Amino acid sequence: MAAMAAALRALGGRFRWRTPAVAGGVRGAARGAGAGQRDYDLLVIGGGSGGLACAKEAAQLGRKVAVVDYVEPSPRGTRWGLGGTCVNVGCIPKKLMHQAALLGGLIRDAPHYGWEVAQPVPHDWRKMAEAVQNHVKSLNWGHRVQLHDRKVKYFNVKAGFVDEHTVRGVAKGGKEILLSADHIVIATGGRPRYPAHVEGALEYGITSDDIFWLKESPGKTLVVGASYVALECAGFLTGLGLDTTVMMRSIPLRGFDQQMSSLVTEHMASHGTRFLRGCTPSQVRRLPDGQLQVTWEDCTTGKEGTGTFSTVLWAVGRVPDTRSLNLEKAGVDTSPNTQKILVDSREATSVPHIYAIGDVVEGRPELTPTAVMAGRLLAQRLFGGSSALMDYDKVPTTVFTPLEYGCVGLSEEEAVARHGQERVEVYHAHYKPLEFTVPGRDASQCYVKMVCLREPPQLVLGLHFLGPNAGEVTQGFAVGIKCGVSYVQVMQTVGIHPTCSEEVVKLRISKRSGLDPTVTGC
Ligand code: FAD
Ligand code: NDP
Repeated sequence: MAAMAAALRALGGRFRWRTPAVAGGVRGAARGAGAGQRDYDLLVIGGGSGGLACAKEAAQLGRKVAVVDYVEPSPRGTRWGLGGTCVNVGCIPKKLMHQAALLGGLIRDAPHYGWEVAQPVPHDWRKMAEAVQNHVKSLNWGHRVQLHDRKVKYFNVKAGFVDEHTVRGVAKGGKEILLSADHIVIATGGRPRYPAHVEGALEYGITSDDIFWLKESPGKTLVVGASYVALECAGFLTGLGLDTTVMMRSIPLRGFDQQMSSLVTEHMASHGTRFLRGCTPSQVRRLPDGQLQVTWEDCTTGKEGTGTFSTVLWAVGRVPDTRSLNLEKAGVDTSPNTQKILVDSREATSVPHIYAIGDVVEGRPELTPTAVMAGRLLAQRLFGGSSALMDYDKVPTTVFTPLEYGCVGLSEEEAVARHGQERVEVYHAHYKPLEFTVPGRDASQCYVKMVCLREPPQLVLGLHFLGPNAGEVTQGFAVGIKCGVSYVQVMQTVGIHPTCSEEVVKLRISKRSGLDPTVTGC
């Protein structure tokens, strides 16, 4: 740690800080600077998935690059380092806690395989959180080293536009710096939203910005929301043995295939997660014993309900981090509804030399790999003579619920809406992972379906896989689907036995046939 601190001081020592008074003079100089006289070829605002990828690629292409990144602590006071949402409060800690929960299931399976494990095995949140947080901190450090090695200047400042080529950065202590660049990329991502009109929401609730950094177990938890963040968090909390309730106002996983989404929540419910369906919260208050009393409205009965929890986790969506950027000073247009930045297919904003990538952009998937690829391709177009555009079609994704759900392409509903019921064929199977047999695990929700055009050779429009390691399974098939694979070609592919993936290449039963899709035999 001491070596790390010394190295960080060395990195910090090269910053060119200005006091606000001095910065006034610099501002004039920066404004007057013509192309070629500006500080950097590329300035990236936001050191998350997209911003770092773009900055590193531009530096590899020999350009002078700077990244500014600043994390505003959560309302609860949680703070973290370089790397953005995915590294600190998203994919990475989430997947590790998901793994911790899955291990609980494997420990319960173990005696069936001959391991003499005394049951029940208690879980220590403190130990898990510390290990996860240490890994995240090592990634923060790794990002700083990578930037340094590639000669990308890193400034830990909060950025706002001064004009269309100049950005003012303000450090934690109030020191300011002015940076000018020929090209500017905005990659400031988003932050969790707190629900409006719920008394006590901000005071007593936490979000995904806090859950992974809690030192103590959250205890009995109410998770409000029913999309990726809500179901993933509720899944691992339940798996770690915590009393967990999900409050869902409408449907689970809006935008996903609804048959699959129902199976996801069915599996969670059968493994201990409680669901309050059709309910919306109205108030959170702290009781004298420190517990949180939540009041909600049950929209189906019109009645009021209450419950007591140790933690309330809001997972009701995210808002783009655009408020402090002073975008109007640069003339960058945003959507009046979402405040997300409007871009064209080249990721260019309304100001031609200012670009935006990742979660902060209107209409883009909020996923790390899309932000990373968009960032790399943008740098290659700007500085590498490339004209390749980011293709946002057929982006695969996985929801890391206890039974993982991976998908790519169209849902059954979308396929029918686009092509008509008569032109769509859906092949499906209920299967039992081999690993489930010995411990006698229930496999009722292990299900796979492939959505195809009916007309030969039956182009595959979408694949939906619910089962263990869905991310690993879906990634491979996504290549084929991206390349336009047909059902006929999938059926000509030899399976790998015994795996869950092979169920995809064995999909013979169509929904239309009405035959039982349960896989029997091995
Ligand atoms: P971010 O990674 O959010 O980075 C933006 C950075 O800019 C931040 O560091 C921010 O502090 C900084 N910043 C903001 N404003 C300023 C400013 N004015 N000046 C300086 N810096 C600023 N995606 C997946 O693909 N797989 C997953 O499993 C997955 N799990 C997730 C789990 C959770 C709980 C959450 C919340 C998200 C998850 N995501 C996942 C989504 C993924 O994290 C995001 O899509 C991704 O991080 C977006 O990258 P980005 O570069 O757009 O922004
Ligand atoms: P989403 O916007 O996807 O979902 C918000 C959820 O909150 C919905 O279920 C919505 O219900 C509900 N909701 C909204 N407002 C309220 C309210 N006032 N009261 C009660 N419920 C409310 O947000 P997430 O935060 O889950 O995810 C954001 C993005 O992050 C995702 O789109 C995804 O791209 C990314 N992500 C990716 C992951 C992965 O790749 N595995 C994991 C986690 C996040 P309704 O449907 O009724 O509007």
